[in-house]
Amino acid sequence: MINVTKPFLPPREDYDHYINGIWSRGWLTNNGPLVNELELKLKEYFDVPHLFYVSNGTIALQIAIKALGLTGEIITTPFSYVATTSSIVWEGCIPVFVDIHPETLNIDPSLIEAAITPDTTAILATHVYGNPCDVEAIEKIAAKHSLKVIYDGAHAFGTTYNGKSIFHFGDIGTLSFHATKLFHTIEGGAIITQNATIAKEIAHMRNFGHEGPEKFFNVGINGKNSEFHAAMGLCNLKYVAKILEERKALSARYDYMLRALRVGRPLIQQKADFNHAYYAIIFESEKSLLDAIEALQGVYVYPRRYFYPSLENLHYVRQEQSVVVSDDISRRVLCLPLYHTLSYEEIDMISRALLRAQNN
Ligand SMILES: *Cc1c(COP(=O)(O)O)cnc(C)c1O
Repeated sequence: MINVTKPFLPPREDYDHYINGIWSRGWLTNNGPLVNELELKLKEYFDVPHLFYVSNGTIALQIAIKALGLTGEIITTPFSYVATTSSIVWEGCIPVFVDIHPETLNIDPSLIEAAITPDTTAILATHVYGNPCDVEAIEKIAAKHSLKVIYDGAHAFGTTYNGKSIFHFGDIGTLSFHATKLFHTIEGGAIITQNATIAKEIAHMRNFGHEGPEKFFNVGINGKNSEFHAAMGLCNLKYVAKILEERKALSARYDYMLRALRVGRPLIQQKADFNHAYYAIIFESEKSLLDAIEALQGVYVYPRRYFYPSLENLHYVRQEQSVVVSDDISRRVLCLPLYHTLSYEEIDMISRALLRAQNN
């Protein structure tokens, strides 16, 4: 059986080394030494001044919205994982969906201004599949209308833009380190900002708002993560360069094997060094996508429809403008298996099954 992804696991001895340390210290959570070490290493990796390791990528988004004090309407993309939208709703704001660009599959900046109202406070956009949004266009619009910008970078670990980490953009960038992501800590996430004032809000919010044992700085939540999770992160971080390299090679193999398949591929931002977080193909019709899924399941391959359905279809949102591109793409897009131990033979087998389904 081949699933869309398979979590990376470091050599057992690597993890045991950290676990032995946890046992000898007896410090399991609450900003322990491994959490601190992971944060330091990640700050270096992204070359950013402020990074907070949290319990998952969803709480990262919710804290981001809260830390910026957002209210009213938040402009967002309908083509993302449900957590992007649910976080907006959970924080008592209203998601306003702006359609995506048909080639990059990221929010289309040329449509943003028409969606801005006096109630708009921010733009929350996703770097879909790890492919950067048009951050320069978004920055310009945000500056002109005094809007905050949050990037859901759950897919974007390792992606750079003009040679810098993509997390240098926006007021806040969030990450997910869930087991299915390219870099993971089993469960986990992070919040990145360049701004010291915002960082102070986040630091307190993550820990119930505590400012010492008896004083409270702001409304907080429990967004902390544990030493055990940080240990997994410290192990996996040593392999991340290799993981990125392997995914690039595996994606190139798909490109070669699928050259005769009549599918589209997302257009990668020119200024980006892409992390190959996902291998997405866009079929000509939903029918050909469903045929392909059936053919793959016949050989025990389980791809995923990331992202389907388009999020304006959630029953708890209201959308006035139609987002036809997102709705259309979400019906035709499929992510193929891609993970570090996937072999060329398996890719070839998957590719042949897809070609057979097309030619039937
Ligand atoms: C995975 C993911 C999230 C949520 O992250 P969790 O760590 O699972 O809470 C949010 N947004 C996107 C785009 C994701 O892919």
